[in-house]
Amino acid sequence: MENIKNYINGELVEPLSKKYLDNYDPSKGKVYSYIPDSDEKDVELAYEAANKAFHKWSLTPKDKRSEYLLKIAALIEKNIDKLALAESIDNGKPLKLAKTIDIPRAASNFHFYGTGILHYAANAHSMEDNAINYTLRQPVGVAGCISPWNLPLYLFSWKIAPALAAGCTVVAKPSEVTPMTAYLLSEICIEAGLPPGVLNIVHGLGAKVGNAIVSHKNIPLISFTGGTSTGKQIAAIAAPMFKKLSLELGGKNPNIIFADCDYDKMLATTLLSSFANQGQICLCGSRIFVERKIYDKFKNDFVTKTKTLIVGNPLDEKTKVGAIVSKIHFEKILSYIELAKREGGKILCGGKPITVSGEFSEGYYIEPTIIEGLDYNCRTNQEEIFGPVVTITPFDTEEEVLRMANSTIYGLASVLWTQDLTRAHRIANTIHAGIVWINCWLLRDLRTPFGGVKASGVGREGGFEALDFFTEPKNVCIKL
Ligand code: NDP
Repeated sequence: MENIKNYINGELVEPLSKKYLDNYDPSKGKVYSYIPDSDEKDVELAYEAANKAFHKWSLTPKDKRSEYLLKIAALIEKNIDKLALAESIDNGKPLKLAKTIDIPRAASNFHFYGTGILHYAANAHSMEDNAINYTLRQPVGVAGCISPWNLPLYLFSWKIAPALAAGCTVVAKPSEVTPMTAYLLSEICIEAGLPPGVLNIVHGLGAKVGNAIVSHKNIPLISFTGGTSTGKQIAAIAAPMFKKLSLELGGKNPNIIFADCDYDKMLATTLLSSFANQGQICLCGSRIFVERKIYDKFKNDFVTKTKTLIVGNPLDEKTKVGAIVSKIHFEKILSYIELAKREGGKILCGGKPITVSGEFSEGYYIEPTIIEGLDYNCRTNQEEIFGPVVTITPFDTEEEVLRMANSTIYGLASVLWTQDLTRAHRIANTIHAGIVWINCWLLRDLRTPFGGVKASGVGREGGFEALDFFTEPKNVCIKL
C-alpha cells in the first residue's frame, strides 16, 4: 500500500515522526493507503522553506509566475484520467463527476489565475493640488491554505493558484480524509519545475497540522474552507494575531420554486442540486420550498425521479450517487435522518443505508432521501447535514418563503425558479446569501465573487478578490 508523502522544499518527504494514518476508500470501507501523521515540526520545516523561497518568488516577474501556473494546469489536464480515478477512490464520488467537474476545474483554477495575474493592475489617484497617489499590491508573505474533503483538488487549487499567482509562497493542508490528489499535485509541481519552497503541502490532522499553520506566528494570512465550527476556532486563534482571514464555511441553502417556473428544467436541475456528489457540496440546495399550487405535482415527480438514481460503485459509468466520504460522516447523516423522524418528518423516499454487493459491501452508501412535513425552524431544517438528504416544504406567499429561507444562521447560496424576472430581482435583493442562482445552479464564472454571509463565512474568493486577499495594498503619495 502506498505511503503518501509531504511536499516540502521541492521534495517528497516522510513526516519527521515517521508516523502514518490510515486512508480509506469509502466505496469499500477499506484502508488503501497511508497518510503522514505530520505535526508542528513538519509545519515548521514547510514554513522555513516557504519563507526562504518568498523573497525570490515575490520578485519573480508576473509572466514567469504565470508560466509555472499554466504548466501546472496543462499537466493536470494531461493527467486527468489518473487524477479523476484517484479522486473518485479517495472521496467516493462518481468517477464521471470527478472527470467532468473536479479535475477540469482544478486545471481551470491554475489556468484562470495564471492568466488573471497578467491583468491584475493597481489604482492611481491624482489630486488637484499637484500630487499623485499610486497603490502597490504586494504579496502578503507565506500563506496558510486549508481545504476540506468534498471537492478535494478543486478547492485546494482554488486557494493555491491565486496565492502563487499573487507572489505568496504557501504552506497548505488538504483534508486528512482525502489527501491523494494533493499528493499527486505535488508530483505535478515537481514535474513543472516549480522552485523549491514555493508550494509546500503538509498532510495530517486538522487539530495538529491545521492548528500549527493557523497558530504559526509568522504566517500572516489564512485561507480556510470547511465547517463553520472549525472556522470559529480558527478565527479565535487568528484574529488576536491580526492575521488576514478568508473563511468559506457551511451552508443550508434554500431552493425556492415558484409555480411559474420552467418546470422540466427546474426538476432536472433540482435533482442535481439536491444529490450531486452525494449532497456533499456546500452549494447544494438542501431546503426546497415549493409554491403550494404545484407542491403535490412536484413531490410526486421529484420522488419518482430520485428513485431512479443509481447508488453504488463510484467507478461504474451508470452510478449517479457514490459513497459517503467516511464512516463518521455516514453515521452523522443517518443520525440526522433519525432526528428528522423524531421531529415529525415523513420520509418520502430513501432514509436508509444501502448495502452494495461484492467488494463494496463495507462501503458507506445512503439512499437519496426526501423528507416532508417539518417545521422550517426545526433542527433538521436549520443545521447543515451535508449529505443526500433534502426537505420539501410548501409556501403560499413570497414573504412567507423569504422568512423561511432567511431563518438559518447560514447565508451561502440560494436558488430561485421563476419566469417572473421582477420577482426574481426582488428576492435576489433581499435573500441572505452571497450567491443567488436564478433558473440555474452551479453555473460558475470564476471572475465573480464567491462566498457567503452570516455564519457561511468572511470574505470572498474568486476573480480579483482573491488576488486582493493575497496581496496587501500600500499607498504611495507623491507631491509633484
Ligand atoms: P472541517 O472544518 O472539518 O475541515 C476542513 C479542513 O480544516 C480540513 O483540512 C481539516 O482537517 C481542517 N481542520 C480541522 N480542524 C482544524 C483546526 N482546529 N485548525 C485548522 N484546521 C483544521 O470541514 P470538512 O472537511 O468536514 O468539510 C465540510 C464542510 O466544509 C462543510 O461544512 C461545508 O459546508 C464546508 N464547505 C464550505 C465551502 C464554501 O465554499 N463555503 C465549500 C466546501 C465545503 P481534517 O480533515 O484533518 O479534519
